[in-house]
Amino acid sequence: MPARPLVALVGRPNVGKSTLFNRLVGERLAVTNPIPGTTRDRLMSEFEWRGVVFRVVDTGGIEIYEPKGVRDEHPLAEGSSDFVPLIRAQALSAVQEADVLVLLVDALVGVTGADEEVAEILRRTEKPVLVAANKADHASHTGNAVDFYALGVGDVYPVSAIHGIGVGDLLDGVVAALEANAELTPEATFESEDDERLKIAIVGRPNVGKSSLLNRLIGSERVIVSPLAGTTRDAIDTELTFYGEQVLLIDTAGIRKRGKIEPGVEQYSVLRSMNAIERADVALLVIDAIDGITEQDQHIAGYIIEARKSVLIIVNKWDAVDKDAYTMTTFQKQIDEKFNFLPNPPVIYISALTGQRIHLVLEAAKRIWEARHFRIPTGELNRLIRDAYSKHPAPGHGTRRLKLMYASQVRTNPPLILIHVNDPRLVHFTYKRFLENQIRAEYAFEGTPISLSFRARSGLDK
Ligand code: GDP
Ligand code: GDP
Repeated sequence: MPARPLVALVGRPNVGKSTLFNRLVGERLAVTNPIPGTTRDRLMSEFEWRGVVFRVVDTGGIEIYEPKGVRDEHPLAEGSSDFVPLIRAQALSAVQEADVLVLLVDALVGVTGADEEVAEILRRTEKPVLVAANKADHASHTGNAVDFYALGVGDVYPVSAIHGIGVGDLLDGVVAALEANAELTPEATFESEDDERLKIAIVGRPNVGKSSLLNRLIGSERVIVSPLAGTTRDAIDTELTFYGEQVLLIDTAGIRKRGKIEPGVEQYSVLRSMNAIERADVALLVIDAIDGITEQDQHIAGYIIEARKSVLIIVNKWDAVDKDAYTMTTFQKQIDEKFNFLPNPPVIYISALTGQRIHLVLEAAKRIWEARHFRIPTGELNRLIRDAYSKHPAPGHGTRRLKLMYASQVRTNPPLILIHVNDPRLVHFTYKRFLENQIRAEYAFEGTPISLSFRARSGLDK
C-alpha cells in the first residue's frame, strides 16, 4: 500500500500549527494508535474524516530533526527578508511531498510579510491550498478572516485551534480538495492488494552507508535487477529478483543518485524516509558502527514501529571498528538497550565497503517478511494463551478478574491477534505485554510488531 495522501500544515511560527495538529489528535480522529510521547506522534498522524483517510504533518515540528547548528533560524520566520534561503529543507520537503497544503495565518494579527512569502512558495507548487485563519476565537474576529483572500492562494476558513471552532469546516475543505484529485481517493491509493512482493525500504541517517549498501545489493550475483519500466512510480523504486523471489526496494531514487555524487551532501528528508517506510513491509535500519547508536537512529526506529512495519538492523562499517572477542557482544548490548522498544530485531553486522556479510541481508529481510505473513494456527494459539493464563493469571481489580476466553489471529502482515475476554477494561498493559512475550517465546515474529486486541465476549454473562 502506498502512503496515504498527505496534508501539510504550513505557516510562519506562532500561528498555531502545532495547536491545530494537537487539536486534530485530541479529537480522536486519529486512526492509528498514537503512542504517547513518541516523535512520530508529534510530527505526523493519520486521520479519518467523512470516510477519507489521510495523513497530516505539522511542518513546524519537523525542525527538531535538523542537524545541530541550524536549529535557531526558523524557516518561516516572521518578517525575515532573506526568508527564502532560510526555508529549511525539511519544511520544504514536507510541502513537496504533500498533496494538499493548509496555510495557517493569525486572524488576530492580519496579513504579514512572512505570510505573503509563504503563500508565494505555496502558490508555486500549484497544489491545492486552504487558508486557515486561526485564533478566530470569537465570532467578531472572523471578520478579519476575509482579508486573507488577498494572499490569493485559496479559500479562507476561520478557525480557532484552541477552541476547536471551524475545524470541521476546514476538514470538509481538505477532504473536498483530496477528492477533487481522483488519484487521491482512498480506493485509488491502494496498490493492488495482491502485490505480495517483498517491499524493502533502506533508511538511516546521512552517511551511514545506505547508498553503498544499495550498490552492494544490486551488484550481488544472486540478484537480478529488472530493467525499469517507463512509469514514474517505477523509476523511484528498484525491482530485483532474489532466488526467484520478486523484491521491491522502495524509493531508491535519492539513494541511487547520491551514490554517483560526492558523499556527505544528502538532503536528508524525514518525510521522504517516512513515506518510504509506509510503503514498505520491511525497513533496513542502517546504523554506523563507528558512531554507535544515536538519538536520530532511535527516532527513525520509532517511525518504523509506529508505522507497524518490520525492522532489520544493519550495523554497517564493521570493517572500520577495532574489534576484539567482545566487540560484537558490547554492540549488541547497546542495541538491546537503546532499541528496547523494537520487537526482537534481527541484527546483521556488515561492511558495505568490503562486502562482508552482505549476502545475509536479503535473506534476513525475506525471513522477516515470512514472519510478517505467518499465521498461528488457532488451536496452538489457544493452548498457548491458556498455558500463559494458568502460569500467571491476570491480577484482579477489586472483585473482578480478567478472564481470557478465546483467541485467534485474524490478520497477518502485520499480525493481529484478537482475544475475547470477559471485560476488555480489565486488561492491564503489563498483562498485555506478558501475553505478547509468551507468544513471542514460541513464535519469534522477528523484527515484527504484533498487535493484541481485546474484545468483550458477546453474551450476557460478562
Ligand atoms: P506554531 O508555532 O505555528 O506551531 O504555533 P503554536 O501552535 O505553538 O501556537 C502559538 C501560540 O498561539 C500559542 O501561544 C498558542 O496558545 C496560540 N494559539 C494557537 N491557536 C490559537 C487559537 O485558536 N486562539 C488563540 N487565541 N490562540 C491560539
Ligand atoms: P548514505 O548517506 O547513507 O547513503 O552513505 P554512503 O553510502 O554515501 O556512505 C557514506 C560514507 O561512508 C562514504 O564515504 C562511504 O565510502 C563510507 N562507507 C559506506 N559504507 C562503509 C563501510 O562499510 N565501511 C567503511 N569504512 N566506510 C563505509
